[in-house]
Amino acid sequence: MSRPEALWPLFGDLTGLPGVGPKTAGLLAQLKIETPRDLLFTLPHSVIDRRRRDTIRGADLPATLTVEVTVLSHRAPSGRGPTRIEVQDGAATFQIVYFRARGDWLARALPVGERRIVSGRVELFDGIAQMAHPDHVLRPDEAGSIPDFEPVYPLTTGLGQRAMARAAAAALDRAPQVAEWADPGVVAREGWPDWRAALAAAHAPGAPDAAGPDTPARRRLAYDEFLAHQMTLALIRAERRRRAGRPTAAAGRLSGAARAALPFAPTGAQERAIAEIAADMAAPHRMSRLLQGDVGSGKTLVAVMALLDAVEAGGQGVLMAPTGILARQHLDGVAPLARAAGVTVEILTGRDKGAERAAKLAALAAGETGILVGTHAVFSRDVEFHDLRLAVVDEQHRFGVSQRLELGRKGEKVDTLVMTATPIPRSLSLAQFGHMEVSVLDEKPPGRTPVTTALVSTDRLDDVVARLRRAVDEGRQAYWVCPLVEESEVSDLTAAQDRFAGLRAALGEGRVDLVHGRLAPADKDAAMARFAAGETGVLVATTVIEVGVDVPNASIMVIERAEAFGLAQLHQLRGRVGRGAAQSTCLLIHGPDPGETARRRLEILRGTEDGFRIAEEDLALRGAGDMLGHAQSGLPRFRIADVERQPDLLQVAQRDARRLLADDPGLTSPRGAAMRTLLWLMEQDKGIRLLGV
Ligand code: ADP
Ligand code: MG
Repeated sequence: MSRPEALWPLFGDLTGLPGVGPKTAGLLAQLKIETPRDLLFTLPHSVIDRRRRDTIRGADLPATLTVEVTVLSHRAPSGRGPTRIEVQDGAATFQIVYFRARGDWLARALPVGERRIVSGRVELFDGIAQMAHPDHVLRPDEAGSIPDFEPVYPLTTGLGQRAMARAAAAALDRAPQVAEWADPGVVAREGWPDWRAALAAAHAPGAPDAAGPDTPARRRLAYDEFLAHQMTLALIRAERRRRAGRPTAAAGRLSGAARAALPFAPTGAQERAIAEIAADMAAPHRMSRLLQGDVGSGKTLVAVMALLDAVEAGGQGVLMAPTGILARQHLDGVAPLARAAGVTVEILTGRDKGAERAAKLAALAAGETGILVGTHAVFSRDVEFHDLRLAVVDEQHRFGVSQRLELGRKGEKVDTLVMTATPIPRSLSLAQFGHMEVSVLDEKPPGRTPVTTALVSTDRLDDVVARLRRAVDEGRQAYWVCPLVEESEVSDLTAAQDRFAGLRAALGEGRVDLVHGRLAPADKDAAMARFAAGETGVLVATTVIEVGVDVPNASIMVIERAEAFGLAQLHQLRGRVGRGAAQSTCLLIHGPDPGETARRRLEILRGTEDGFRIAEEDLALRGAGDMLGHAQSGLPRFRIADVERQPDLLQVAQRDARRLLADDPGLTSPRGAAMRTLLWLMEQDKGIRLLGV
């Protein structure tokens, strides 16, 4: 498939545009503008009202104003002071001020006795109105060259507004009339202009507020951007679903038996997720679903129900965790329920060697093992299932893509359920996981004790240690997290080792342990096990306390240099405590002067334990790219659309994309063809490739 001819002029060289030479093209390239198409989608970020007025009198200063003046006099600088030029408009006199301007140039630009149009920011200084360095100084006959509403573009050194506006206008001239790809109902309801008109309006604003995100033109262009991306995700989704899966239907015999053994009733959210997953597995396509739920929301139970369905349907299931400790913990969670259902569970980690491992593999290949819990060891080529139907992957981000591919080879039609404990705001989840189905556990099981969170300045570290000592004397247990901040793993490790030594001196040998990334896995496991068994009182750790590790007796979490962590990470860490009956505490230790934003972020954490709320507020504070890190998020850089502020448009775009594809899977209808044009226009290469398949 090749690019529609109508779009060719937009993908040519920038120097093909009138008025754009190699120098301007080079400057534009610094702004990541390589083609006329890029120019089209680089919109002004604000608008300056340059409408002429008679006088500056009556204006709310400071303000950017445009008036016609008569030049009265020039006052040369005294010493290093500015040149002051007295001017008179329709009703007032004021000063135009230049610092370090050449006198002869000024005399020519603003000759005494002549009339000029001046436009710039007017401010009051000591009661005198001044316009310093006007943006425009023109003869009255040139005044037409200033638009009433001047667009303000992002620039780079050497590139001026005028050159930018000229280039944008030239690109706009090349924009073709295209067939409508948007849903006609949405366009009508929102009162949107067509694509070309929307671009024209965005580049040539007709009102002071025309650069705001809420004008019909801007909303339309944002929608287009979302729509193109969502269409790609919808194509990926469709392609996955086309790959034949097979129905895995169960009457609930096994899961029912497990339920009967539960000491509690599942939450409403768990029930909903269980039902969604069961329906998805029962359908003939291949399931690709995300289960999102905060720490402690009870994802394991949901996973077990699905795994038991897979077994009841005559197959097997695998539950994968990123570390051996977590795998063993999952085993502890899964085993009683599986036992109640009469299903055999086995664990496979990197520790398994020799004859024992061979026996496990044999049982798995023979289908005697119903559910396998494991680590990446499960990906080994010699691990063969009898009939794998469902793979549950916990904490997806810890697994690499290639490993997930490897998993695909274990079973042609395996349904997958990915569990993540990182709450993602709904808008982001749509943008990031639009190609998957998503189930959300937005409700926590009752009975957890709230964690008291406090912000403590590092100045008071001695107090913290003294209190910790008393708590440990009382038999309580604590995590102490030292941050790992980029670059210097070595010095961070040194800091953690120093802290470890200090705490050991204060609390006593044998009551403090240290785990960090450089430790051999076996040593790390041993330290974690001693802590879990209550043998150590304080566990000092660099960053990674194994995600999801469960030590109910640990009730204190100290996090040093908390401002260096992401909120999601802090929330995860805090989730390690508050798991038992005891009142739990989280101390966020910050530098003496963490800064305004850092403090606000820590306060969000103090204010709530609701992971979704924390994520929403974090998003509002930081922006999407920052929050997820673009590279690994798979989230595109939208030029116009704003994931945080326009979740409504994103949702509409997802619905429209999926609906269009359901009606017209090959995108062959007139609207489908228009959608192809949009994909090309938005450089959705991946979506385009899928269409070619
Ligand atoms: P997650 O993996 O989502 O962090 P878990 O599945 O480990 O959470 O569950 C956390 C704890 O809550 C476990 O001890 C589990 O037995 C318990 N739990 C799960 N569901 C419920 C429920 N509906 N009512 C009470 N306790 C529950
Ligand atoms: Mg878990």
